[in-house]
Amino acid sequence: MKKGFKIIVLAKQVPDTHNVGKDAMKEDGTMNRAALPAIFNPEDLNALEQALRIKDQFPETTITVLSMGLPKAADVIREAIFRGADNGILLTDRKLGGSDTLATSYAIAQAIKTIGNYDIVMCGRQAIDGDTAQVGPQAAEKLEIPQVTYAEEIVDINEKDITIRRRLEHGVETVNAPFPVLVTVTGSAAPCRSRNAKRVMKFKNAMTAMEIEAANADKALYEARPYLNITTWGADDVNIDPARTGKAGSPTFVKEIQSVVLTAKESKKLTGSDADINEFVKDIIDNHILG
Ligand SMILES: Cc1cc2nc3c(=O)[nH]c(=O)nc-3n(C[C@H](O)[C@H](O)[C@H](O)COP(=O)(O)OP(=O)(O)OC[C@H]3O[C@@H](n4cnc5c(N)ncnc54)[C@H](O)[C@@H]3O)c2cc1C
Repeated sequence: MKKGFKIIVLAKQVPDTHNVGKDAMKEDGTMNRAALPAIFNPEDLNALEQALRIKDQFPETTITVLSMGLPKAADVIREAIFRGADNGILLTDRKLGGSDTLATSYAIAQAIKTIGNYDIVMCGRQAIDGDTAQVGPQAAEKLEIPQVTYAEEIVDINEKDITIRRRLEHGVETVNAPFPVLVTVTGSAAPCRSRNAKRVMKFKNAMTAMEIEAANADKALYEARPYLNITTWGADDVNIDPARTGKAGSPTFVKEIQSVVLTAKESKKLTGSDADINEFVKDIIDNHILG
């Protein structure tokens, strides 16, 4: 009888596009990332919760969080550890800059292969900044493993397979998949549990080597307590072919960026009388807004 699963949770640090203020866009129409707080991509938290539920059921399960991004993305790894993940790996390298979804999913798949020997890769359905929902499915293709998208709940898991309820546009579907499998989790899945106070105390000093250096932290502490070290990998650590990542590996070409501002062209005041309402309905039919 299996006592635990090896799970990798993909977590992306994203700008908080749900709280966009007036400084959020630059004049050229690109996002002013500095003006938006960086957060844990919301659906990745749903994915983490599904992994934690498996660990609740099978305590020998290990959860490794993998994030690709700037050095400050270590924050999402710490957050995941505070909520119950075992450890994390940050994939960060200037060589990965300028990667589109094809190059990103390649780099992530290489990192997953380097971790190796996994049962489940859990990720969010979609990131709130790029919004493509491509990275999970593309990574599964590159890993040559089955994928279950739009997962809302893990209904059953045993040593042979996993049963997942998917949330679709017009209903639900329940499917079985063998291991290893990649699962993309939707925002309608259970929300992630909060931080655990004991884990916050234990892991509050968890840092990457770069952060330890920058903070001039006591290195003896990290030698004595290896669990406080957040692993950092660069492109060479995961055998990345330079032709398949960064700008060289990104066939997406951004032709033009437009800042679309929706403004009401005109307004009309209605009194609520029958005559006004009749006129309003006639207007919207004539303008093909209705019918
Ligand atoms: C031409 C081009 C150049 C770009 N250059 C850059 C750049 O220089 N720097 C930059 O940051 N972005 C860059 N991007 C954006 C980058 O490609 C996307 O952010 C990235 O591919 C993820 O796509 P997405 O946001 O649509 O994620 P989705 O496909 O919507 O994400 C689905 C899920 O995949 C997982 N996932 C996605 N990305 C990551 C990640 N990085 N780490 C861990 N898990 C992840 C998460 O679980 C997420 O919920 C560029 C895009 C293009 C088109």
